[in-house]
Amino acid sequence: MDRRKLIKSLALTGTAPLLSFNTFQAKAKDEGMFAEPAKEIRIAEETDVIVCGGGPAGIAAAISSARSGAKTRLIEFNGCLGGIWTAGLLSNLIDHENKPGIMREIVDRLVASDAQMTAKNYDAEAMKVLLDKMCKEAGVDVRLHTRVVAAYTDRYNRLETIITESQTGREAWKAKAFIDASGNGDLAAQAGCSFDFGHPDSGKYQPSSMMAILTGLDYDVMYENRLFRREGIVGREHKIKLRDEIRKGGIDPSYGLPTLFPIRKDLFAMMANHEYNTHPLDAQQLTDATMQSRIEVNDIIDGLRSNGGIWKDIRIVATSEHIGMREGRRIKGQYTITKEDLIKGSTFKDAVCRVDFGVDVHSIDPNVSKGITNEGVRAKPYDIPVRSLIAKDVGGLMMAGRCISGDFLAHSSYRVTGNAVAMGEAAGMVSASAAMKNTLPQEVSWKNPY
Ligand SMILES: Cc1cc2nc3c(=O)[nH]c(=O)nc-3n(C[C@H](O)[C@H](O)[C@H](O)COP(=O)(O)OP(=O)(O)OC[C@H]3O[C@@H](n4cnc5c(N)ncnc54)[C@H](O)[C@@H]3O)c2cc1C
Repeated sequence: MDRRKLIKSLALTGTAPLLSFNTFQAKAKDEGMFAEPAKEIRIAEETDVIVCGGGPAGIAAAISSARSGAKTRLIEFNGCLGGIWTAGLLSNLIDHENKPGIMREIVDRLVASDAQMTAKNYDAEAMKVLLDKMCKEAGVDVRLHTRVVAAYTDRYNRLETIITESQTGREAWKAKAFIDASGNGDLAAQAGCSFDFGHPDSGKYQPSSMMAILTGLDYDVMYENRLFRREGIVGREHKIKLRDEIRKGGIDPSYGLPTLFPIRKDLFAMMANHEYNTHPLDAQQLTDATMQSRIEVNDIIDGLRSNGGIWKDIRIVATSEHIGMREGRRIKGQYTITKEDLIKGSTFKDAVCRVDFGVDVHSIDPNVSKGITNEGVRAKPYDIPVRSLIAKDVGGLMMAGRCISGDFLAHSSYRVTGNAVAMGEAAGMVSASAAMKNTLPQEVSWKNPY
C-alpha cells in the first residue's frame, strides 16, 4: 500500500496524525532536527498598523501612526519601552538637534520634567515613564513582554499575519500594514525579506557594549578633572583621560575610548567595554558577551574605586539588562543608502530627515584597534529617503531604525537615535495612511511635514 493510501486508511481509525507526525519526526531526526507539530492559534487582534519593537524607532512609529488616525498595536519584547534608550541604559542622544517632531517633543518633555542635566544626556528611568505616557496619550495599544516569532504573507506576498510568544502563549495578530522596528530586522526576516549583515569585506560586525549607571561621583569634580566639558559633551581627550584612570586601577578596558556621560549631579552613565565578534542573532554568544561584559564593568569600577581620590565612593547603580548591539540585519529596501550617498551628501525629494552624524565604526578587530574609525570616509550631511524604509521583497512592510536599507558604512552613521526617531515617525505616518486607504506604503505620496 502506498503511503497516502496508508495514511487515508489509518485516518479512519484516528491514527493518521500520529503516523504522519512520526514520519515527519523520523525524517527530521535523520537531519538532526525536531519537527514541531502544527497547531491552531487564537487570533488576538485585527488592527490597522502593527509595530514590532518599541525602541526609539518603534515608539515614534507607533505614536505617529496612532496620531494619524490608524488603530495601532506596538509589540515589545522587553518590560519597558525605549529599547537601547532604557533597557540598554544608553543615556545619550546623538543627531537629535536637527530633528523636529516627536524627537523634539521628547527632549522638551525630558527637560521640563527635570530628567536631564543637558539636552543630550537623560535619565533612563525618566525616559521609560515618558514613553509610556506618550504612547498612552496617542492611544497606542501596547503589548510588552511579547516577542514576534513568525510572519506570514498572503498570496500576493503582502504581510498579513504575525505570531507572537509571551506568557499568554502563542498568539496571531493581523494588520493592514506593518513596521519592523526591531533593530535586528526580525519581522522582515521572518516575512522572507532579504538582508545584508556585517562588514562587506570580512563579514565581521561591530562590537557590542554594556552600559552602566554610576553614582558616588560629583559633576563639578568630574568636570574639573577633565572627564567632560561643562555642557556634558565628551571629546577624545576626556575619553583618553578616563582610560588612563581605568588603567591606573589595574584594568585595560576592552574599549579604547571609554566614556563617562553626566546625567544628574550625582548620576553618570559609562560605556567602557567592547565585546568583539558577538553575533547579534546567536543567543549563546549574546549570553556569553553579556556575562563577560558585566564582569568587566564591575572590575573597572572596583579598579577606579581603588584609585581613591575622586573615585573613592564610585558605585554601580545598574548595568543594562540587554547588552547594546550595534549591528543586526540591514533589510533590503526600495532604495539602499550607500557610502557614496554620505560622500556626496545626497539629497532626496522623499527625504525623511537629514543625517548630520558621520561614519562611526567601532573596531571590528581588537588586534588592529580598540577604538573607532571612519574607514577613510568623510560624510557630508545627507538625506534618508522614505524608499529606504519600504521593504523590497514583501508588501505592506516598512522598516525604521537601524534595520533600514543601507550598506555597512552608511548604517554606522544613520543608526543613532535622533535619526531612528525621525525614521519611525515617517514610517508611522506612511503606514497609517497605507492602512487606512488599504494600499501599499509605496503608493502613499510622502510629504515631509517638517
Ligand atoms: C552600546 C551602544 C552605544 C550607542 N551609543 C549611542 C549614543 O550615544 N547615542 C545614540 O543616539 N545612539 C547610540 N547608539 C546607536 C543606537 O542606540 C541604535 O542604533 C538605536 O538603538 C536604534 O534604535 P532602534 O529603535 O532601531 O533599535 P533598538 O533600540 O535596538 O530597539 C529595538 C526594540 O525592538 C525590540 N525587539 C527586538 N526584536 C523583537 C521581536 N522579535 N519582537 C518584539 N520586540 C523586539 C527590542 O527589545 C528593542 O526594544 C549606540 C548603540 C549601542 C549598541
